[in-house]
Amino acid sequence: MAGKNTKSPAIGIDLGTTYSCVAVWRHDRAEIIPNDLGNRTTPSYVAFTETERLIGSAAKNLIAMNPTNTVFDAKRLIGRRFSDPLVQSDVTLWPFKVISDPGDKPMIVVTYKGKEKKFVAEEISSMILAKMKEIAEAFLGLTVKNAVITVPAYFNDSQRQATKDAGTISGLNVLRIVVEPTAAAIAYGLDKKLGSSDEKNNVLIFDLGGGTFDVSLLTVENKVFKVKAIVGDSHLGGEDFDNRMVEHCVEEFKRKHKKDIRNNPRALRRLRTSCERAKRNLSSAAETAIGVDCLYDGIDFNYKITRAKFEELNMDLFKKCIKAVEECLHDAKMDKESIHDVVLVGGSTRIPKVQQMLQDFFNGKALCKSIHPDEAVASGAAIQAAVLTGQGNAEVQDILLCDVTPLSLGVHVRGDAMSVIIPRNTALPTKKEEHFMTCFDNQRTVLIQVFEGERAKTTDNNLLGKFELTGIQPAPRGVPKISICFDMDADGILNVSAEDQTTGNKKDMTIINDKGTLSTEEIERMLKEAELFKAEDEQHRRNVDAMNAFENYIYSLRSKIKKGKNFTLTLTISDQRKIELAIEQAKEWLESNQLAGEDEFKDKMKELENICDPIMAKMHFSGTGPKIKEVD
Ligand code: AMP
Repeated sequence: MAGKNTKSPAIGIDLGTTYSCVAVWRHDRAEIIPNDLGNRTTPSYVAFTETERLIGSAAKNLIAMNPTNTVFDAKRLIGRRFSDPLVQSDVTLWPFKVISDPGDKPMIVVTYKGKEKKFVAEEISSMILAKMKEIAEAFLGLTVKNAVITVPAYFNDSQRQATKDAGTISGLNVLRIVVEPTAAAIAYGLDKKLGSSDEKNNVLIFDLGGGTFDVSLLTVENKVFKVKAIVGDSHLGGEDFDNRMVEHCVEEFKRKHKKDIRNNPRALRRLRTSCERAKRNLSSAAETAIGVDCLYDGIDFNYKITRAKFEELNMDLFKKCIKAVEECLHDAKMDKESIHDVVLVGGSTRIPKVQQMLQDFFNGKALCKSIHPDEAVASGAAIQAAVLTGQGNAEVQDILLCDVTPLSLGVHVRGDAMSVIIPRNTALPTKKEEHFMTCFDNQRTVLIQVFEGERAKTTDNNLLGKFELTGIQPAPRGVPKISICFDMDADGILNVSAEDQTTGNKKDMTIINDKGTLSTEEIERMLKEAELFKAEDEQHRRNVDAMNAFENYIYSLRSKIKKGKNFTLTLTISDQRKIELAIEQAKEWLESNQLAGEDEFKDKMKELENICDPIMAKMHFSGTGPKIKEVD
């Protein structure tokens, strides 16, 4: 546990697929921190332009003008391989380019300041995290170092580790990775004062966000939040509903105009923005319009869509969500009648059909909508951050989180079989050891292959990593005993070790090296690069400030001269001409040097000041009449 530090509060960050949210524990409650525009959530977007890097709203707002260099959805890529079928299907829909590195790691390719640059998803996420850190620092007036970051419950080991790496690259010390539904449950539990007595509450959190979906079942008792089961899909959410609408509109456009807009990223992007807006409208209206001027080849697209059509387009996805609820209850060995509260989290739970289907499933039980669906996760993370740093009050300091493993973890054994060492839904942290034997006579090495998943055959599961234990003494098969230990920490990050029990020879592996996640050296390099980016952004801001100051000075001079002309002005004609000429030259220079540096703007401004200030100091207004009195 980190020590108490009242100077630098720890923050909670909900790093969302589409939006991110940051909160802090202050004045005995979790407070959502608004960004520089006053918004309580910030788009998880990063844009690269000819001159600068933009993060958040500034990036999202300009997307139609800069579609190929505006990156979003990094959370859908993080900790995944390029060849992952889900990545493959996303790549076709994104307007930005994603390629594979030699190790099958997805690389996002953009043009920044006229040069091609490649980023891994962790770097993009780190930029968003750094922005959230900055938002918190501006609000608190303090430097922030420590943070709790949330991930979907169904994020696997590699995705969690990659998110933690993103935090490190952003310059944060990641105190804990907490799963989103647990964070939401803490916020809900605190709000409802659950668990303050001995009574036990079973809470089902239904979290349907922009890109991910989780259902989790927790019991809350005496301030202990125990996750009983989680089921979900780290690739299902509002964006899939948008995709269905986009696909439908693309077909509609093709049918009407015989033109396929799929090859035009800008058109697709504009259509998607319009579809997302329509989707939100359909949560309150029965019908809405999708309209994009000059969508493709100068043709406008105007289409009326009803809520019923939207529901039809997405019904299979909605059903998938309800099926997950069933599965979660089954895993927790509970029936629906034993659930006390069904809590809605995530922007997509605003969809009426989703609410209705969920309510019907629970035989008409009222759903809990008292916590803000977009903010609950960040609030819960901030509470957890306060608990971990000893900054919380009496109400929260005893809160205990007991998380579980989302997937079973095991090793490959003969016959392509998965030998499970940590079963899914085991409480974290956990440490389990199993003993294995060699398969052949005189076997000198064993290959330990670590998998996650629920299938009996390892080839159907997900390979997390592998390593070899060497130096086994020659002996008949089955004689050497190998013990394999799986140690999973509270963040859900796994360390595997294997030991030859005869020789004591041991090998360890934190499951981060073999599976496309970043090495310590890579993280350090990216951290340095991130600092460089930050310095570049700051320099750009200073350049723009200096340019604005120079431009303002020119305009203020011009307006003073103009005002002087309308009123009685005491200024010699030659002085006046001198100023006018200097202003004209300064304006010309400014127009052709928009990309100059801070110092150049400052020098030019100084030059102009040296000419104009002494003359302006001589200028004074006399009388009130609107006539110019020029003296020479
Ligand atoms: P989150 O990841 O929790 O921030 O959820 C963001 C997702 O919620 C995005 O896909 C939004 O389009 C979606 N969303 C937000 N408001 C609404 C709404 N009123 N109706 C339907 N979806 C919404």
